[in-house]
Amino acid sequence: MIPNKAYAELKDSYLFAGIAAKVAAYREAHPEQKLYRMGIGDVTLPLCDAVIAALHKAVDEQAHAETFQGYQPECGAPFLRKAIAGHYASRGVSLEPEEVFVSSGASDELGDLLDLFDRSNTAMIMEPAYPAYIDASVMAGRAVVRLSADESNGFLPMPPKGEKTDLIYLCSPNNPTGAAYTRAQLQQWVNYANDCGAVILFDAAYEAYIADADIPHSIFELSGAKTCAIEICSLSKTAGFTGTRLGYTVVPKALVREGMSLNAMWVRNRTTKTNGVSYILQRGGAAAFTPEGQAQIAAQIRFYKGNAKLLTDALDRAGVWYTGGRNGPYLWMKCPSGMDSWTFFDELLHRVQVVGTPGVGFGPCGEGYFRFSTFGSREDTAVAAERLEQLLR
Ligand code: PLP
Repeated sequence: MIPNKAYAELKDSYLFAGIAAKVAAYREAHPEQKLYRMGIGDVTLPLCDAVIAALHKAVDEQAHAETFQGYQPECGAPFLRKAIAGHYASRGVSLEPEEVFVSSGASDELGDLLDLFDRSNTAMIMEPAYPAYIDASVMAGRAVVRLSADESNGFLPMPPKGEKTDLIYLCSPNNPTGAAYTRAQLQQWVNYANDCGAVILFDAAYEAYIADADIPHSIFELSGAKTCAIEICSLSKTAGFTGTRLGYTVVPKALVREGMSLNAMWVRNRTTKTNGVSYILQRGGAAAFTPEGQAQIAAQIRFYKGNAKLLTDALDRAGVWYTGGRNGPYLWMKCPSGMDSWTFFDELLHRVQVVGTPGVGFGPCGEGYFRFSTFGSREDTAVAAERLEQLLR
């Protein structure tokens, strides 16, 4: 047996292990100090009432022969595919339910989708980025091209001139930067992909946080996107499903390469490699798309945005450069006085007991930057914002 040697090329992720080790050492030395954790990428509010009621009802249905559900269709229960297509329609995007695939979350799909593309394909990955894009591509033996972003382009890289690629990972609103492409910017990516025959894997996990009218929630709001994009989305950050697990992927029927329909290929893939997502969870997920569910989710997102406002106000008063916080749940700030990301991490931890995430952990171009998330409690975020401002002043 020859193992997949690509695994040997994976870089060890020091990021979260490094944070945990430094926090543990600090706690041991200063057990009396409370820490303010602004690094967490997980939500903290519970599932909303509409979802909980639907989950309970579905559990009860499984208790009676008349309502019991066995295997669900591999690509998703029709009621949920229809509900998601209806959600897109409310944004002016017309999709057939058969173009929507229910998944167990975005992470699974971000790697599994690579099955659709030849091994010789190169993946262009915007950075700073969610680490799964690079790691999943490397595991699948794909060549990777990093498309670095910086302050000059607001951490939103644009298509490289005169360079072609096969796959493009884009995430907007972005994790870790919170920056989001405008309609005009994303249109440039769609045009680029159509021109060079590439396919965009568009991660829309944070679309529910978009506040500005000029930021598209879906890549399919742009003309020509159905012939060059697949959209990956999740209820994790939208509706608190991080521990419950549910997501969806849109593969348009118009997406065809060399006479092969990627939609038909994905149907073939799913019907081979999965036996569908739990009926109970799909019922819970469908409740998130009802008017009641949408209103309750919106209230949760408003809460997290209240946290973002506390942090952005503090950074504004301190006169620090940052992006994000408006259209996504993350803020990405420039470390003061040219400090590197890990030095600023130590400063924050030791001087004001605030914990964040060093930007360099999301790619080399994140060096000198720092991420804060907005999923904590209001009280802790308020204290952290105040302490951060004091330190920066
Ligand atoms: N995509 C991005 C950009 C994320 O930040 C995350 C989770 O943090 C995911 C995908 C994964 O989402 P899921 O929980 O649906 O696997």
